[in-house]
Amino acid sequence: MKSATKATAAEQPAAHLRLVSDRAGGATPGIKLSGVSKTYRSRDGDVPSLRPLDFTINDGEFFVVVGPSGCGKSTLLKMISGLLPPTTGEVLIDGDTVTRPHGNVGIVFQNALLLPWRNVLSNVMLPIDMKQLPRDKYVARARELLKLVGLEGFEKKLPWQLSGGMQQRASICRALVHDPKIMLMDEPFGALDAMTRERMNVELMRIQRETGKTVLLITHSIPEAVFLADRVLVMTERPGAIAAIYDVPLPRPRSLDSMSDAVFTELVQRIRKHFFTQGTLD
Ligand code: ADP
Ligand code: MG
Repeated sequence: MKSATKATAAEQPAAHLRLVSDRAGGATPGIKLSGVSKTYRSRDGDVPSLRPLDFTINDGEFFVVVGPSGCGKSTLLKMISGLLPPTTGEVLIDGDTVTRPHGNVGIVFQNALLLPWRNVLSNVMLPIDMKQLPRDKYVARARELLKLVGLEGFEKKLPWQLSGGMQQRASICRALVHDPKIMLMDEPFGALDAMTRERMNVELMRIQRETGKTVLLITHSIPEAVFLADRVLVMTERPGAIAAIYDVPLPRPRSLDSMSDAVFTELVQRIRKHFFTQGTLD
């Protein structure tokens, strides 16, 4: 399995640019996957969706997964979140096996999934209500987060009164409101226009840097992956396996200017090569 996490010799980059990750985890693993696979059982037969995966996401790391449509990215995130049991193997968070949703995790799904009968502010406050945390302590934070994503003035609106992109921004606030240590994000910016998306990328990076959160983000945008990540995991087609894991040696803090850095361009091109023979990303 280990060898699958390294690019082959023919793919090795120029000596000055050691991109392929040689970090086999690190000293303080936040999330550890050990032989985690998934086969969906259905009436029409088994659907092998993920081959056994072994990798570690370090505490405080910004870890991004890219891969073709249907390769098992959402499945992977659901298993890490404790919403879906793996067929084999186990997920460990801070050394404990995950068997159900973890209190210290915030999740942003591909679709906003706001409750239609709650207004925007109440939707953002949902984790606080579910955990029975003091409302008055968190409501200011919820308003602050909404302001951050440009939703000030929309607190009292119902979800249907917002565009898809605005709903998704509200769901990002909901995932952040209880200040979880780990953020799991499944293509969170897919529905946003390009400019809002760039702004959200910069904001997310700033939040992650200031709070030291561990972030696992799934995206179909290779430039977004390289811009945000400490490491990028590239998946193969279904049943998904690890094609490679790359270090992103761009210094932090990063700005949109980092995208014109030669290291950025070279890494984006290298990751793209994985998909030339594999069909398209979703
Ligand atoms: P991705 O997020 O990378 O697009 P998914 O994790 O959603 O991929 O799905 C991986 C594969 O598993 C797909 O081929 C999909 O059809 C299949 N799959 C996902 N959910 C189910 C399910 N509940 N039952 C059967 N097959 C599923
Ligand atoms: Mg998906």
